[in-house]
Amino acid sequence: MLAVLRSIVQEVSSAGNLEQALTIIVRRVKEAMDVDVCSIYLIDEQAEQFVLMATDGLNSDAVGVVRLGLNEGLVSVVAEREEPVNIRAPNNHPRFYECPITGEEEYNSFLGVPIIHHRNVVGVLVLQQHTEAPFDEDSVTFLVTIAAQLAGAIAHAGASGEIDGLKDKPTDSHPLKGLPGAPGIAIGTAVVIHPYADINTIPDQEVEDIEAETTLLNHAVEAVRRDIQEMVERLGDNIPGGDMALFEAYQLMLESEGLTGAVIERIKAGNWAPGALRETIQEHIRAFDAMDDPYLRERAEDVRDLGRRILRHLQHEVEETPVYPRGTVLVGEDISASMLAEVPPKKLAGVISLRGSRTSHMAILARGLGVPAVMGVDDLPIGRVNGLKVIADGYSGRVYLNPKLTTRREFRRLQREEEAMSAELQSLRKKPAETTDGVRIQLLANTGLLSDFSPSKKSGAEGVGLYRTEFPFMVRDRFPGEEEQHEVYRQVLESFKKQPVTMRTLDVGGDKALSYFPIEEDNPFLGWRGIRITLDHPEIFLVQLRAMMKANAGLGNLQLLLPMVSDVSEVDYAMTLIHRAYTELYDEGVKVTLPKVGVMIEVPSAVYQAEELVRRVDFLSIGSNDLTQYLLAVDRNNPRVAGLYDSLHPAVIRALKQVMDAARQHRCPVSVCGEMAGDPAAAILLLGMGINSLSMSASSLLRIKWVIRSFSRRRAKAVLKRALLMENAREVREHLNQVLEKSGLGGLVRAGK
Ligand code: PEP
Ligand code: MG
Repeated sequence: MLAVLRSIVQEVSSAGNLEQALTIIVRRVKEAMDVDVCSIYLIDEQAEQFVLMATDGLNSDAVGVVRLGLNEGLVSVVAEREEPVNIRAPNNHPRFYECPITGEEEYNSFLGVPIIHHRNVVGVLVLQQHTEAPFDEDSVTFLVTIAAQLAGAIAHAGASGEIDGLKDKPTDSHPLKGLPGAPGIAIGTAVVIHPYADINTIPDQEVEDIEAETTLLNHAVEAVRRDIQEMVERLGDNIPGGDMALFEAYQLMLESEGLTGAVIERIKAGNWAPGALRETIQEHIRAFDAMDDPYLRERAEDVRDLGRRILRHLQHEVEETPVYPRGTVLVGEDISASMLAEVPPKKLAGVISLRGSRTSHMAILARGLGVPAVMGVDDLPIGRVNGLKVIADGYSGRVYLNPKLTTRREFRRLQREEEAMSAELQSLRKKPAETTDGVRIQLLANTGLLSDFSPSKKSGAEGVGLYRTEFPFMVRDRFPGEEEQHEVYRQVLESFKKQPVTMRTLDVGGDKALSYFPIEEDNPFLGWRGIRITLDHPEIFLVQLRAMMKANAGLGNLQLLLPMVSDVSEVDYAMTLIHRAYTELYDEGVKVTLPKVGVMIEVPSAVYQAEELVRRVDFLSIGSNDLTQYLLAVDRNNPRVAGLYDSLHPAVIRALKQVMDAARQHRCPVSVCGEMAGDPAAAILLLGMGINSLSMSASSLLRIKWVIRSFSRRRAKAVLKRALLMENAREVREHLNQVLEKSGLGGLVRAGK
């Protein structure tokens, strides 16, 4: 059964659209289970109806025509009960719906299984038989397995409007749901960018100059042919003949009229080369995937690989002339820093990412640039949104495609209010971050890019609380040397002369990869990351430490921060290396001073050992992004569990309080440098806990200053006291939002003033 299941799922996953996918499902399931009828009903959210989307066995004219209310028919019983319904003589059931077109009354047994995605029923998969006997256990479990496996793909198609033909309709009444990434409202035109050579996400695009497009394709194919030839020559006798055959097969495929010719046909029909290539490759993959012979099925992977290679060359040529209209809303599966950097800042209105969450590095970057962002919109029909009007609400995480004029007007009004609020916030720039009862809080900026210093300075930051050194490492194709690093760090320290700059030592691993230092692990977040890597590679760590301390010579504003510490021995060893780098430089005659050293609190063990850590270092900095992830065991980048990720979870709040209490006892300064520091609601709690320093992206700074200047420490303590009695993050957030609303600061946590 497993083999059948796998082959169905494979065939479905290479289908070009929802209709094809559903047709494959009903045909293959009916065949595999040897039943009389297999049908699929999906829910049209807008019309609040079940729609018969595909059938093998019932009258095919009924497809798309038969629509049942959400309380009508046996399918509604299945959806209501959220479990399989297996009955004899369905016609006698009080909810049986007699539908003249389908001709269902002749069937004497019914099995319906709900299709459930993220706890929501999106449709029902139905089997029917002439014989009057209930379906056996195997049939039920098989159908449940199929429905569970396909639910994601079906829900995705549903959200993209294929069920209700929504394609060009506005989505105003049911916007797509993502996660707030960076505050603000983006109104503009969707520009889809695709990860390098990811064939499945390439959209269709109309092309005018067919000849030029065909030439592009031919050049790309020629380039791939050359690449393969070079590869074969390079490998020479080093690979076994069998593997070499693969490259020969590639050359054959490239020569064959089948592949290249089919792409050209599609270009002639009006699609641009990457789109035509995607269609052709998907068609070939479908053909191979449908084959029962495992050897032939494997060839699908070869076709996919070949497609990627051609695409890579195509994109290389295409990428030279990207068109970004004014009001570009960048849409992508996974948008990288370099993709964002390609858009002229004046034209960039917002970002929508299908992956990630508030604390992914992409969202942090967007906040750093002051660009609204919505993350984790995994239901966005990426292949079909390029060029559409779009609104992204970075507060609620909602995305509106083809919004109506009235919706656009409303959001423009909110946008104007936001602008007015920003202007008001600007007036706080020179004012101190001081509570109404005179407590001074140090507000610092998080940075990582040279280009975001000026916003940090403009926002009135009193220094840098977190300089993420990964970025200078990521933009190179090898580890940067001591001199290269020295230059970068010197610029940072000089830009913030006389103000503290906390530089974190290299924190790669987890979701931050260096292309030239790949780490393959089953559990990257629990693996080799942060200080674990640098301690294992003193040759990398010492170079960085030396570069930082050298850059500090004569300035004296550097502080060092150690990431991902989970054991005191790591701090001890890091201290040994810091002292070694210091002594070396001293001996070399550099005017070096020993900087203050701090530890990041971002894993539970560090919370429980805060006292031991405090004794070893000069300050603590709480990395609430990772701390939340590790305390709640929720991957900070996984949209499936994003609903569970909230730094206002009572467990996180209690952990923070514990750390601050320990630090206070030892008079050790504590700062928060995770995204929580820039969250106006969380800031009240942190104030109540006695925090003395907060570090955030520059775009949040004035907002947080407004919060601080509107509250007294006493009031914040009272708010914290109440929050500590609450049992879940939702309650805490509601409570804090109400407090903000009552204080006239509601505009900080929702669109508008
Ligand atoms: C954190 O984990 O809160 C943090 C500031 O580090 P990063 O987001 O870079 O992992
Ligand atoms: Mg971290």
